[in-house]
Amino acid sequence: MPLIDTAQMLRAERAAGRAVGAFEPYNVEQIVAVIEAAEAERAPVIVQLWAEVIETYGFPALCCVVRELAGRSSALISLHLDHSDDDALIDACLENGFSSVMFDGSRLPYEENLARSRDVVRRARKVGASVEAELGIVGNIAEYATEEEAHAAIQSLLTTPEQAAEFVRETGIDILAPAVGSIHGCSLPFARLDAPRIAAIAEATGVPLALHGGSGVGEGQIRAAIAAGIAKINVDTEVRQASIATLKQAVAAIGSGPQEPPDYARVPRAVRVTTREAVAARIRAMR
Ligand SMILES: [Zn+2]
Repeated sequence: MPLIDTAQMLRAERAAGRAVGAFEPYNVEQIVAVIEAAEAERAPVIVQLWAEVIETYGFPALCCVVRELAGRSSALISLHLDHSDDDALIDACLENGFSSVMFDGSRLPYEENLARSRDVVRRARKVGASVEAELGIVGNIAEYATEEEAHAAIQSLLTTPEQAAEFVRETGIDILAPAVGSIHGCSLPFARLDAPRIAAIAEATGVPLALHGGSGVGEGQIRAAIAAGIAKINVDTEVRQASIATLKQAVAAIGSGPQEPPDYARVPRAVRVTTREAVAARIRAMR
């Protein structure tokens, strides 16, 4: 299928009581794996890319790979730029056919985050793409010495429904990433999601909500979050950890003796399988 608009995909899934997984492939074998997992689970999926990954492959190669694989798949796929405050990169993604972009101005002063998010929306509208923006600060576990310290600190960074409503109204964004108790870079179990806050933000804004730091959220909380209004769930750390463990094993298993030609081909194959399984398991938890 051709790539589809991210916000449209999220609204449809939300109406059916489901969320869509957004996964971060770092290379081509992982892009293949994410799309294969979506097809196997008969679920839509968001392929989201970081600036670093785009830098590795460049435009338009990466978009061509995703578009080609999506085109051959029966699954609904969208292509999304994750976390960026780089206007040049955002514009390049829009020009290269991304379905959506995330402008992350969460650490900027509120007024600046609002103004720049609004400007990204204006540019995205010209090419029919949708926009995600962050309000409040989700943060990263690496910023804190302990998990308890992180829990205490993020309480003051959570998004309020009142400010979320104003932010969405004033910017015109399609997807809001609120801070609701999860954190980036953490595997299970971390999050103590504030489900009433999620429900209040969903009600006040009317747009699909994105949960960042999904690797640190257990299945029970995932279900509660979806019931409260989360429509997009970002999962990176968990899949990354599984893939790196496989990568290390596969590299260690490559022979180095004179009679044994180095079999590099097994490395991407092994990563593809692990990534596909990890992504599929997470998709199942969202449906
Ligand atoms: Zn994030």
